[in-house]
Amino acid sequence: MSIYLDNSATTPMCEEALSAYLHAAKTAWGNPSSRHLMGKEAEDILKTTRAKVLSSLGTREGTVIFTAGGTEANNLAIFGRAYAKPRYRRGGKILTTAGEHSSVTECLSALRAEGFEVVEIPTAGGSIDMATLEKELTPNVILLTMMLVNNETGAVYDLAAVSRLAKQKCPDACLHADATQAYLKLPVSPRALGADMITVSAHKIEGPKGVGALWVSPAVIKNRGIVARELGGGQEGGWRSGTENVPAIAAFGAAIDKQTADRADRVSHMLRLRQRLLDGVASIPALAEVKCNLPPVCAPHIVSITLPRIKSETMLHFLSARGIFVSSGSACSSHDTHTSPAMIAFGLSQAEADSTLRVSFGIQNTDADVDAFLSALSEGVGSLIRFR
Ligand code: PMP
Repeated sequence: MSIYLDNSATTPMCEEALSAYLHAAKTAWGNPSSRHLMGKEAEDILKTTRAKVLSSLGTREGTVIFTAGGTEANNLAIFGRAYAKPRYRRGGKILTTAGEHSSVTECLSALRAEGFEVVEIPTAGGSIDMATLEKELTPNVILLTMMLVNNETGAVYDLAAVSRLAKQKCPDACLHADATQAYLKLPVSPRALGADMITVSAHKIEGPKGVGALWVSPAVIKNRGIVARELGGGQEGGWRSGTENVPAIAAFGAAIDKQTADRADRVSHMLRLRQRLLDGVASIPALAEVKCNLPPVCAPHIVSITLPRIKSETMLHFLSARGIFVSSGSACSSHDTHTSPAMIAFGLSQAEADSTLRVSFGIQNTDADVDAFLSALSEGVGSLIRFR
């Protein structure tokens, strides 16, 4: 038996994506930059998926740049913006939220070391501190890079409000939304968010790993408001050189179609499972000391829970030995076991953060999966506290 409750880390590929991958790999293996017919067939796949990404973002405008996933899209948005104009290097300021994904924080640490001013806006309790944001929105802000859904707490941030404030106060401000966890679960559109750049990643939506995209607004492209990071053959309009991963991009397109078609059902299924888990934690006596970390607005697929005096790593292995797979913090920070900055930013103590598990749902999960998790968790809490 195996019960996979780690869908924020990655999802299994859906059948549609798998068969689109195989089909493209077998039949359209030409280089999309080649001028002959085989190149054109591969290029058509890129064109088709590009249109699907645009439409999934509710827009016909802007540029979709395929990347090797969310991490690369975030790197392109952040470094691409910071290096876009020489004057940005002289006093450019970047705002972000406390508890971003490492693919954002690591870029920002590097830029800070180069002299950029980087300010983290607090997110205690799971929402952006708008008063601090307002104070930090000085005219030298060149970029705000913020996630729409926090990958560990599930908190949904009000980026539309952030954008409204920023556009009033900072003429050079550009809002980059890391929508990796929100994409096709919550409304993600440039208009609704007031975003100038949006990151999406295929493997969170039952597509393949190693492919994603950065959407960039027409204004940013026109004003040369970002520069390329990957230089070479000029693929992706010169914004990201390197031969595109055509089969993965075909599969990305198939996953978008699938998730768009069954989105309402999928979201309500995940919400129901999430509620079942919360109800279980609230009503099972053995779990009386387990605390759910609930942000005011939460994504449908993520639940963060803090255990009483048990390291999350210990519980993770206890559950894993019983075929139940969850995560402690973010799996995306590799095999690291450091205290999660996202949970500290949420307001947990270090001990609490080190005792926090993330459960994340996908369409394949069932009520029985939640019940099995609750029962294994109850058993684990009983025995691990006892033998601590
Ligand atoms: N941002 C967020 C919020 C994420 O959750 C992740 C993936 N865990 C990424 C970025 C990185 O995406 P990828 O794994 O496609 O590089």
